[in-house]
Amino acid sequence: MKLNVMCLNCKIQGEINESLYDLTDSLSYEFTCNRGHKNVFLLDSHKFELLFQMGLYAYSDGYFREAVTNFAAAIERFHEFCIAVLSWEHGNEKKVFNQNSEIQYSQINDEFNKEYKDAWKELSRQSERQLGAYIMLYLVTFKCKPHLIPSNWVEFRNGIVHKGAFPTANKTSEYAEVTFNYIKDKLLQLKTAFPESTEKVYSKAIQDYKDQQLDSYNGSNLITYKPYTALRVGDKIEALTNLDFEEAKKQAHALSLSKMYI
Ligand SMILES: [Zn+2]
Repeated sequence: MKLNVMCLNCKIQGEINESLYDLTDSLSYEFTCNRGHKNVFLLDSHKFELLFQMGLYAYSDGYFREAVTNFAAAIERFHEFCIAVLSWEHGNEKKVFNQNSEIQYSQINDEFNKEYKDAWKELSRQSERQLGAYIMLYLVTFKCKPHLIPSNWVEFRNGIVHKGAFPTANKTSEYAEVTFNYIKDKLLQLKTAFPESTEKVYSKAIQDYKDQQLDSYNGSNLITYKPYTALRVGDKIEALTNLDFEEAKKQAHALSLSKMYI
């Protein structure tokens, strides 16, 4: 997937100076335009947003196996996002007692962040562990078992990922819709119940990056960059509620034809 970016200085002066970059695991992309302006783009999207969108592009281009693989990965990374939000909601405060032995709550953001990263390492390589963590965190938070992807769709996904099966266009589209509604419903639930934690977790990764790297980019334009994706954590609840799968598919098809994923 290639993203289209523009030099900020040139844009302010009314000129267009563009570059294409391949999406990588790095959050950042450096681009010096032909007039010597240095730009650093920081990608401000969560992986599940990008993966779902890449699935739609692959579907639109007729690569159905790749589409299914991307949708399946989007579900797994969405679970990761949910685990982070629910952990933050439960974990970033601790009870302390004041001089009158009254309970107060103390924020332990940095301390919790560090512990969370260490704990995640134990889960990061095994998606089954992540699914287990998601189910139990959801249970203790919402007091019920989460609705999960139906088993027939899990088998469908396994056939493609593990057995090399070739899915039809119709089945791929159905799986895309199941994935879309699954993520949309859970995202709405998270944003409604815990808007602050959802926002905090969403912006944490990019903030960490900025804190670590900012000094080395003196003299550059630091630009936060968010490509179009159908599912977006940052959208308002009303916009999320009104999201429609067929519209998302049409929009992806139009963008895919133009080959300009911006
Ligand atoms: Zn420039």
